[in-house]
Amino acid sequence: MNLQFADILVIAPHTDDGELGAGGAISYFLEKKAKVYYAAFSTAKDSVPKGMPEDILKTEVRKATKSLGIEEKNLFIYDYQVRKLNHFRQEILENLITLRSKIHFDLVLMPSLNDIHQDHITVSQEGLRAFKTTSILGYELIWNNLTFNTTCFIRLEERHLENKIKALKYYKSQKGKDYILPEFVRSLAKARGVQIGAQYAEAFEVIRWVI
Ligand SMILES: [Zn+2]
Repeated sequence: MNLQFADILVIAPHTDDGELGAGGAISYFLEKKAKVYYAAFSTAKDSVPKGMPEDILKTEVRKATKSLGIEEKNLFIYDYQVRKLNHFRQEILENLITLRSKIHFDLVLMPSLNDIHQDHITVSQEGLRAFKTTSILGYELIWNNLTFNTTCFIRLEERHLENKIKALKYYKSQKGKDYILPEFVRSLAKARGVQIGAQYAEAFEVIRWVI
């Protein structure tokens, strides 16, 4: 089945979650001429390594999303305090509703509802509320998933995976995290590919599917 999407929103609690969970899919959808929008809710100022500028994650997300092919005008950065997104639940919901009122999204990608990170689950629950009538896929961040139902796959080619790895390299502030390493990203894409007889894939959890 070849589904065409026109406007896709990627919801990222922190500026790298979208690329980590769905960087290959973003590259795939852009190639199919979909418009991809990226909304990040925290630039994690309080978690920036010592010696780096406070706003480094803002700079990095701009570079990473640009490298994937997302237009600058389609990147929305909000500056809520890392690990405290639950304190701003209503504001986040209102931000999402504002986006929804401006753009008719036909697909939303956000962290899985089985993600145990406090910021991730907050943003996903608000995503579920804001996009009650839209197809939603939950992306995989295995280091935060207690369980993950691999109920949807996006088949990826080498070029999509390379785009993902290239985008992640812009996150110099996150260097040292094992999940950002190219060998990990490639291995997971390989494992998900094996599940569907493809070279590479990204797996998603179907949260709501509207046909
Ligand atoms: Zn995160």
